[in-house]
Amino acid sequence: MQIPLVDLNAQYQTIREEIDKTVAEVIANSAFIGGPAVKAFEAGFAEYCNAGYCVGVGNGTDALFIALKSLGIGPGDEVITVANSFIATAEAITMTGARVVFVDIDPETYNIDVSKIARKVTSRTKAIVPVHLYGRPADMDPIMEIARKHGLKIVEDCAQAHGALYKGRIAGSIGDIGCFSFYPGKNLGAYGDAGALVTNDEGLAVRARMFANHGRIGKYDHEQEGINSRLDGLQAAILNVKLKHLPAWTESRRENAALYNKYLQNTSLILPYETDGLKPVYHLYVVRVPHETREKLQADLKSKGIATGIHYPIALPNLKAYAYLNHKPSDFPQATKASSEILSLPMYPELSEEQVKFIARSVAGKTAG
Ligand SMILES: *Cc1c(COP(=O)(O)O)cnc(C)c1O
Repeated sequence: MQIPLVDLNAQYQTIREEIDKTVAEVIANSAFIGGPAVKAFEAGFAEYCNAGYCVGVGNGTDALFIALKSLGIGPGDEVITVANSFIATAEAITMTGARVVFVDIDPETYNIDVSKIARKVTSRTKAIVPVHLYGRPADMDPIMEIARKHGLKIVEDCAQAHGALYKGRIAGSIGDIGCFSFYPGKNLGAYGDAGALVTNDEGLAVRARMFANHGRIGKYDHEQEGINSRLDGLQAAILNVKLKHLPAWTESRRENAALYNKYLQNTSLILPYETDGLKPVYHLYVVRVPHETREKLQADLKSKGIATGIHYPIALPNLKAYAYLNHKPSDFPQATKASSEILSLPMYPELSEEQVKFIARSVAGKTAG
């Protein structure tokens, strides 16, 4: 049995007719930039996120960058984020000219350790970018409290958390702006690069849309310099089809996670767990194994046709890209340790119970006792 980490073709087969039809329509109408599909997606995704406004952009990294720029963040400012994420989170901060300030993770949730944020706040701090990693919401209440106390803005990185719930509130609707990626492998994935930001602040939405479209309000009426980062019509049309299926796909991911938890419970793996009030959406199903056995387990699973991944093998502060910050791995002990022990097992809505069982049996054979 060959089981990839993500199977995009399996999903395409279930919606092929709808997708092919909508793509043909966009091409026939030459509605490539802007147009009805983009408008419809922005309206639909704002509603899905319980937000007043949605601005479609070119990708998730740009969504974060545009969000921070719209909040006025730039050179001389500091922005706090988490030590375990995809580099895009930190890159977007640096792209504004601000300095990225990392906080270690909570070893049980892999999200930002909220008890370690306040000590990183200085007079230059302007914002916090919590990441809902693997689809599990970060602990937003204490984060919002710190923000209120110090007058900071909150930009949620929801690139892995479409539809995740934190105490009944949907990811992206809690802070000032929520940023999404529709990279093909994400829970809501386009067939190319795409992204969006959502907010309840009309002024922010207007600034973001203007900055993402060359700083203009009319065709050649540029109030400022901006960038070119727009959601294109083909991707929006594809996302419109997929958005309707997202709630069902999310439930399938959650069922698959529950099956993994059931079939892996007697192994030595540390499994993800759910806390009251949180509804994770399992962009990834991440387990933890001792460092000495991880490579062997990955190789054994590979020999059985089972793909695995590591998200992420090097914590952000330990990357060469951030050597200029002069951190030591011991400055972020939990993120550093986790990076050597985490392992992502195959996770996608179309994964069958048989496949989960096969993966669990393969893991159990290697980690018993
Ligand atoms: C994918 C991802 C991004 C970036 O999104 P792109 O669309 O690839 O630019 C940002 N943050 C996190 C946590 C991600 O997983």
